[in-house]
Amino acid sequence: MRLSRYFLPVLKENPAEAQIVSHRYMLRAGMIKQQAAGIYSWLPLGYRVLRRIEQIVHEEQARAGHIPLLMPTLQPADLWRESGRYDDYGQEMLRIKDRHERDMLYGPTNEEMITDIFRSHVGSYKDLPLTLYHIQWKFRDEMRPRFGVMRGREFLMKDGYNFDLDKDAALHAYNRHMVSYLRTYERMGLTAIPMRAASGPIGGDNTHEFLVLASTGESEVFYDAAVTELKLGDREVDFDNRDEVAGICQEFTTLYARTDETHDAALFDQIPEDRRKVGRGIEVGQIFYFGTKYSEAMGATVVTPEGTKVPVEMGSHGIGVSRLLGAIIEASHDDKGIIWPEGVTPFPVGIVNLKQGDASTDLACEGLYKALAAKGLEALYDDREERAGAKFATMDLIGLPWRITVGPRGLANGVVELTSRRTGESEEMSAEAAVDRIVQVYAGHR
Ligand code: ATP
Ligand code: MG
Repeated sequence: MRLSRYFLPVLKENPAEAQIVSHRYMLRAGMIKQQAAGIYSWLPLGYRVLRRIEQIVHEEQARAGHIPLLMPTLQPADLWRESGRYDDYGQEMLRIKDRHERDMLYGPTNEEMITDIFRSHVGSYKDLPLTLYHIQWKFRDEMRPRFGVMRGREFLMKDGYNFDLDKDAALHAYNRHMVSYLRTYERMGLTAIPMRAASGPIGGDNTHEFLVLASTGESEVFYDAAVTELKLGDREVDFDNRDEVAGICQEFTTLYARTDETHDAALFDQIPEDRRKVGRGIEVGQIFYFGTKYSEAMGATVVTPEGTKVPVEMGSHGIGVSRLLGAIIEASHDDKGIIWPEGVTPFPVGIVNLKQGDASTDLACEGLYKALAAKGLEALYDDREERAGAKFATMDLIGLPWRITVGPRGLANGVVELTSRRTGESEEMSAEAAVDRIVQVYAGHR
């Protein structure tokens, strides 16, 4: 993308309404625009990151054997009357009437609708196990929408639902989600710690929230420092192997890590003192096992191998896709701007032309741009007639992990400069070597 032809409405001033750094940088970097309280347009740069995050979620769901579909945002109230939640959900639910005076709602979640789909089409144990998910906009009329996309009213969520014959199989689905989520967050450059949670309005007794440590998080968290060292990495996981998957869950949930809702001071005090940590965290996902709560209420049954009819066992599992942008920025920035992890960056690399209009620098930049494109890497090329300082400030603000700087002096010596946004360190090398390096860096990410 050539910056002169892109739409990147960067703000010079700090927007007064933004209280936390991620909200401030998302506005300043021209990623989002507020349209009403807690409702945002996604401008091109923000939209690119949002799509990257969706892509990672889809890839990791596929790895775990889960199947994507798409349910609508608007739902008929009657489905929610069947589960009893139409009255229970309260003011967070946006209720709408259509022209025929029928009660509708903008979905805050989809347990009822997915249960309806299941009961319409599945009736036998032979069709199990089954896990369906979608990435769709949700609406919750939050009392205090704030912190930009972190607590919106309209927000993008991945929500998945497992259907299983018995509790053991459903707990395997729960574990499968935990492992796939661990890998999902790691690919986004995050350490998200599964913490035992209290069940909210969705109900159920087996539930974990995934928290990213950040001083601006809304939850108070208590944990053993050793838990932050755990890594899934790229180990091969056989998602059908119950023991293997359960073993990984055990590895990640044995050390103490809880939110204030489930905190147990006596257990906490057993952690060696130098590892006992209290901090704050951002909830970026949650998994629930809730058994037959919805299947019983809504008549979603399956015939067992023995020929009896039983309500199907279920759970639901969510990732805060749009909130993740905020969480990633909270976890990865400095006083100049965002520092995107390679896995989610809107562009893999920026090219800065220090002397736009100079035949040799223009030619070198075009060459770099095309060489990267040929390797499947779309650079953001700053080809504007701007001062070098302004170009660097924009690149630092929008946070691309790598920058290639091309100037007449370097070119005279046959080199360009490759700079890491994270460390600030620069290295001179030939243009070809810079392309090779960028290709290498991203080999494991896309
Ligand atoms: P919270 O406690 O933060 O209100 P929740 O527990 O009600 O969230 P879930 O029903 O667990 O939310 O939804 C799954 C995920 O969706 C959450 O883990 C969170 O990352 C994201 N999410 C929930 N509410 C919002 C919101 N208002 N804005 C952005 N993301 C949200
Ligand atoms: Mg939650």
